[in-house]
Amino acid sequence: MKRAIISDIHGNLEAIQAVLDDIDRQKVDAIYCLGDIVGYGPNPCECVRLVQDRCSMVLLGNHDQGALFDPDGFNVGAEKAIRWTRSQLEQHDRMPKHSADRLSDFLGELPRTHADGELLFVHGSARRPLDEYVFPEDIYNPLKMEHIFELIGRYCFQGHTHIPGVFTMSPEFIAPTIVQGNNECRLPLPRTKAMVNVGSVGQPRDGDRRACYMILEDDQSVLYRRVEYPFDVTCRKIHAITDLDNFLGDRLTQGR
Ligand code: ZN
Repeated sequence: MKRAIISDIHGNLEAIQAVLDDIDRQKVDAIYCLGDIVGYGPNPCECVRLVQDRCSMVLLGNHDQGALFDPDGFNVGAEKAIRWTRSQLEQHDRMPKHSADRLSDFLGELPRTHADGELLFVHGSARRPLDEYVFPEDIYNPLKMEHIFELIGRYCFQGHTHIPGVFTMSPEFIAPTIVQGNNECRLPLPRTKAMVNVGSVGQPRDGDRRACYMILEDDQSVLYRRVEYPFDVTCRKIHAITDLDNFLGDRLTQGR
């Protein structure tokens, strides 16, 4: 079974369209989304609609939650973006033709975790599904890693940091290496437990500006894929919206 897993789209329509096109060519059986469909980017409504249509399992992310309820724990720029995002969702949902399928209803009903046998799916971590970060440097915090691994049956798939890679129990962090000119990297899953960060579709932060997602292959290996998209288009849209900091567009050009 092949499952595509996407996360952290952040209102980037150009990136999610390119990724969905790429997924269509990979012949997968299902698409899962680990949350943060909105926040930061210029097309929140369109992205929610696409995820709703294409994904068979969708989780709530901290930005999705922030757009629905009171944003808490965000920096000034992120909070401004969240308030703008909320206004876009409200504007969409107020239209009479959308009264039967409001985006806020869809987002409001999303679960925070999904379990599938020994596989667990969260946005942040198994310990705090909505908002705990597990960064590569956390391998130097064995207590944190042990606590989180205790909550995992076998493999946990997560997003939130926007940094793709596999955490082993050693603990070790294995980043996929995808040089320019290549667009994929296959990593075998360890026989013991692992946490797998799937990377970010709409705001990569690992120095590669291409959209990132992964495919889980028969629960044996993960195939990371990087997808080119017209980031300059998204960047220009962000620059044209006063409530979105220019930085949110600029960072897309560097993958930072
Ligand atoms: Zn995110």
